[in-house]
Amino acid sequence: MSSLSPSAHEPVGRHLPPGSGNGGLVARVKGRLLRSLARTTVVGVAPRRLGAVSPHLDDLALSCGNFLAAHPGSSLATVFAGGPSRVDPLPSWDITCGAFQPGDDVVRIRRQEDLRAAEILGAATRHLVHWDGQYREPDHGYTGPESDALVQQIAADVKVMVQQLDVDAWLIPLGILHPDHRAVALACLEVATALPDVEWLVYEELPYATAFPEHRDEAIGRLQGRGFAVHPGADARTPRNEEAKRRAVDAYRTQLEALGPGVEEAIATPERIGRLVCRLSDPGTT
Ligand SMILES: [Zn+2]
Repeated sequence: MSSLSPSAHEPVGRHLPPGSGNGGLVARVKGRLLRSLARTTVVGVAPRRLGAVSPHLDDLALSCGNFLAAHPGSSLATVFAGGPSRVDPLPSWDITCGAFQPGDDVVRIRRQEDLRAAEILGAATRHLVHWDGQYREPDHGYTGPESDALVQQIAADVKVMVQQLDVDAWLIPLGILHPDHRAVALACLEVATALPDVEWLVYEELPYATAFPEHRDEAIGRLQGRGFAVHPGADARTPRNEEAKRRAVDAYRTQLEALGPGVEEAIATPERIGRLVCRLSDPGTT
């Protein structure tokens, strides 16, 4: 639900790479749904309650639904849960969804979906007011921060949450491909640098991580460039958790059409969640 904009005049769907059409994701994931993906991970000592940061409304369910179902009582915070109260014209992602009409309060509808998904996962929600990238355009009345200023504002918001919420660990995105995901990842790494005593976990966004492995590797490189590494963690899949994840993902009904086969890709793929470590304090880490 946000634009990947190679230019201001060429918005591209939320889950697609810059410059590609809707077929990009479809082509990447097609044929992989039945593949056995052996990469499983388990985070060493499972924390009880998590704080989790999501770029968009649905990323956590798609990327961490099993893990979150295994940790009821967690708090899910979506950074880009804001936008105009009337969306007109609809940007390309919202059009692809096939669920909205010009003038709809798309964000309100999507927040309601998020509340339902969180209920299924036994979690609480927080919706930050930053506008989804597809709406951060003058045509939609956006006047807020961009680029570095936006990252700094997100970092300030995340830091406040981390200091306020009584949780055992924080789950943050790797920041694959999408500018909104990259912005959230950068902001979270800033907070991790400022608050090193917090236990930080990193999740790879699905279906991005498998659909665009080159962008996943770039994201790992950015993280390493900031002095961090990720120690592989755990796969929380159980029949019960998988069923909860599917129901949670299904709660984002307006997004399913646009996500296409990416939905099954995200459900079939073992979740990739690891522990964030500071390489400067752990020289043996690669
Ligand atoms: Zn997203």
